[in-house]
Formats: sequence, C-alpha cells, structure tokens
Amino acid sequence: MSFVCTECGREFDLATRRWRCECDGVFELSERSRFRPEAISAKIFSLWRYRAMLPKLKEPISLGEGWTPLVPAQAYHREFLAKLEFFAPTGSFKDRGTTVLVSFLRGLGVNAVVEDSSGNAAASLSAYCARAKIRCQIFVPAQASPAKLAQIRAYGAELIPIEGPRENAARAAQQAAESSYYASHVYSPLILEGTKTLAYELWEQLGGRAPGAMLFPTGHGTLLLGAYYGFRDLFDAGLIERMPALYAVQSQACAPLFRVFRENLSELPDVSQGETIAEGIRIRRPARWRAIIRAIRETGGSVITVSDDEIIAARRELARQGLYVEPTAAVAVAGLRDLTPPPSLKGRPLPHPLPDAERGGSPPPLGEGLGERSLVIPLTGSGLKAPS
Ligand SMILES: *Cc1c(COP(=O)(O)O)cnc(C)c1O
Ligand SMILES: [Zn+2]
Repeated sequence: MSFVCTECGREFDLATRRWRCECDGVFELSERSRFRPEAISAKIFSLWRYRAMLPKLKEPISLGEGWTPLVPAQAYHREFLAKLEFFAPTGSFKDRGTTVLVSFLRGLGVNAVVEDSSGNAAASLSAYCARAKIRCQIFVPAQASPAKLAQIRAYGAELIPIEGPRENAARAAQQAAESSYYASHVYSPLILEGTKTLAYELWEQLGGRAPGAMLFPTGHGTLLLGAYYGFRDLFDAGLIERMPALYAVQSQACAPLFRVFRENLSELPDVSQGETIAEGIRIRRPARWRAIIRAIRETGGSVITVSDDEIIAARRELARQGLYVEPTAAVAVAGLRDLTPPPSLKGRPLPHPLPDAERGGSPPPLGEGLGERSLVIPLTGSGLKAPS
C-alpha cells in the first residue's frame, strides 16, 4: 500500500511526511479494501468491528467511536432516518477519521503532530493524541469559537492563535509541519478510511441494504466521500444493487461545490468565505472537490444550498424531536426543503426539474423512485458544541 497523487499518479511511501504531492495534488491510497461480511467482528461495538476492511494498523487508538444509533425523524413533512453521529467521543463524526489516522501515526512512531482547524477536527485530533500520548499543536484563527477552543485545550493540545483569515492558520500549520507531521483531516486519505465505515454500518443497520439517498452538510466532503467509498466497497462486493444518491448541502454564504455542480465548471471558482452560522462547512476550497463532484454525479445526487434562517429552523425542528445538534449539523436537514414537493403538489406528478429561478434550478425531486428505500441524514455534531 502507498499514497498515490490523484493528479499525476506519482506514488509515495506511507511513511512519507509529505501531505500532498509536489504537483499540489492530493493523495489517495493505492488499494481499496474488499468488503467481506464474514470478516466483521460482530462482538466489537465500534467502527473497529470493520478492522479487517481497514488498512493494516498495529494497534487501534480507540475511544469507542462509530456504531452510532439510527433513529426515525422528520422535517418538512418528510420522514428520514437520522444517524446520530454526535454520539461520538468528542461530539462529532470527525472521530471516525481520527481514530484511523492516529492509529496509523502511532504505528509509524510519530510523536508530534500539527493541524489547523477552529473546531471539531481539532477537538477530535486533540483527544486521540491525548489518548496516544502524541504531542499536538493546533493553529487556530484568532477569532475561533470559544466553546470548541475550550474543548481542545482541555485535552492538553497546544493552541496557537493566528491573526487574519482561516487560510493563514492553514499556512502556519503547513510550515510547522516541516519539522512535525501535518495530521490533516483534509489531506490525509486515512481519514476517508475511517469515514467509509458510516456506509458499512448503515448497510448492517438497514438489514443488508443501502439507503435510497443521503444528505450531508458538506465543506471538505470527508463524510460524503467516505460514505461513497464505503458504498462502493459494498457495491463491488455484490452486496448492494445500487448506490444511494448522495446530496451535498452547503451554506448559501460559501458554496463552491454548488457553483461547480450547477454551472458545470471545470475549475474551482474563487468564492468569498461569507458569513454563516454553519462554521464547520465554511470552506472556500475543498481539496477533494473533483472527487466529490464525481461521486455526486455518479450516484444521481445533487448540490443544494440553504440560508442561515433555514438552518436555524431545521435546528429547532430537530430539537423539538429531542435531537440537539450544532448549526452545521442542521444544514443537511435544512436541505430537505428543496427536495420536498410543496404540499399542493403531493400525489401529483412533479414538474422535473422543479422551477426555481432564484437558486439556479432545482435538483431532481428526491423520493421519486425511492419507494421503500430510505432516506438517511447523518447528524454530524452535538448541540452542546454551540449552545446559543
Ligand atoms: C467537519 C464537519 C462537517 C463537514 O464535514 P466535511 O468533511 O468538511 O464536509 C459537518 N458537520 C460537522 C458538525 C462538522 O464538524
Ligand atoms: Zn502529483
């Protein structure tokens, strides 16, 4: 197994300290695992039940992540299954990727890492590094949210505030990585090895089926892409007949993937960062944007955008059903609005696509042909992270 550049195909040893190729391309792993149901460790109730399908790792650094509940919920008159990713040890789905990455780094003998993030990725990395006794430095934008900073600090990570926009923190971390290891949720392909287990779990929880469709709050797309790879494994193993349609939901304020998808762009446009309460997906340049767009097109999904008002409404709607999530996690549920036929149209054939000039055209209405097949939305982060 090695790292392969997705742009030029160059290979790098897994022990490399490089986090991307000389051509700036991002890495993926040279081999994909084969999913074998008989290899599931059914007595392990964490994502490590799929250890046989993960890259070879000496010793898992685990806090009991994964194997999250799946409960019925509804919004906009639509039933769906909520996958409670906020049950994770640090309160967000990021732990799926981190447990695999930190186990890998431990195996390499890495004893110090750096990362840039103002939020959940950093909190997750800090926790697992504490567990693995790896020194952890986090470069954060000086104006990052206090609740998440407190969590990062509590795990014993060193916080280094950087003035200016988000990109400055990234650049500072990348410089520091020259004498450390850049344990990046964005760039390390090991993160996707962890997030792919979301698909495996759903397949088990749905009784050996894939959902019909899934909606994700999407910034760098690590959960969406992980799910894509996981379902691909199941598909390639002949265990599911079709892939779920994957929908990325972005904030109107910062929606580069929306523009690429709707305008059929061949390069990532320069969008402004904008202001939004969905801080976890305020990402101007998703590193794996090409792979994300390909996965969405291939599965018949789409990209949609939502406003802060819609996010707030969706968050409230979830809380009224006992599900308390942070604003970023409510984004995907807010996206249901666009995918739901207005009540007056219910029971009649829908115009296809639904007219919606303002948003640049609507995606195909979800649910057509979904039939018995379920709609699943991961609830990615806990409301306790952003109580106000
Ligand atoms: C990181 C994060 C996301 C977005 O994940 P990406 O991999 O960047 O698409 C969504 N919700 C929460 C709560 C997050 O922490
Ligand atoms: Zn390259």
